[in-house]
Amino acid sequence: MRVLLVEDERLLAAATARALTAEGFTVDVAHDGEQGLWRAEQGLYDVVVLDIMLPALSGYDVVRRLRAADVWTPVLMLTAKDGEWDEADALDLGADDYVVKPFSTVVLVAHLRALLRRGAPARPAVLTAGDLELDPGRRECRRCGQPVALTPREFALLEYLMRRRGEAVSKTDILDHVWDENFDGDVNVVEVYIGYLRRKIDAPFDRAAIETLRGTGYRLSSSGG
Ligand code: CA
Repeated sequence: MRVLLVEDERLLAAATARALTAEGFTVDVAHDGEQGLWRAEQGLYDVVVLDIMLPALSGYDVVRRLRAADVWTPVLMLTAKDGEWDEADALDLGADDYVVKPFSTVVLVAHLRALLRRGAPARPAVLTAGDLELDPGRRECRRCGQPVALTPREFALLEYLMRRRGEAVSKTDILDHVWDENFDGDVNVVEVYIGYLRRKIDAPFDRAAIETLRGTGYRLSSSGG
């Protein structure tokens, strides 16, 4: 099992890596958030152990960006009892488990083994594109943290665009996936609904997430516009 350990306290990182190696794990260490994110994005790890307070990018940012990039490697966060973030936050932001610092390696190993037994986790709970968030489970949409009310059709359209964010999608593709097969109206209904969405998720926030591609269709910007 290959572990990526992202921890900026070098003595702690070295001691933890040694302890995990002795338990049979293969361990790579990154000392800041940026390097940790870059390595984790390669998708080579069975689990990522991620400190929260890190230079360059916080553990909070690392896990958010990993999930936004559709990397679902299990993440175990190292949280400090009196830290800026607590355990609930670690789970809320997409981590799969946490261990409170200071921890014993016995406890860490037990958590890692449990996490690995659970297997591949955390399917896209929440879809994100920059500060645009869509939670299909809860049927909620947020822009800049503010709730945006969508009709079921608008929701389905945005969900489809967000699942394919960064890609060109044709009106026909959209029609096939968002309207049912019995729909026999004009393909331009897509244009109408794109307009509704823009008025809700873009215009009030001075953004332009949905790009019109002449002759092709649309593309939702991965950065949220
Ligand atoms: Ca730290």
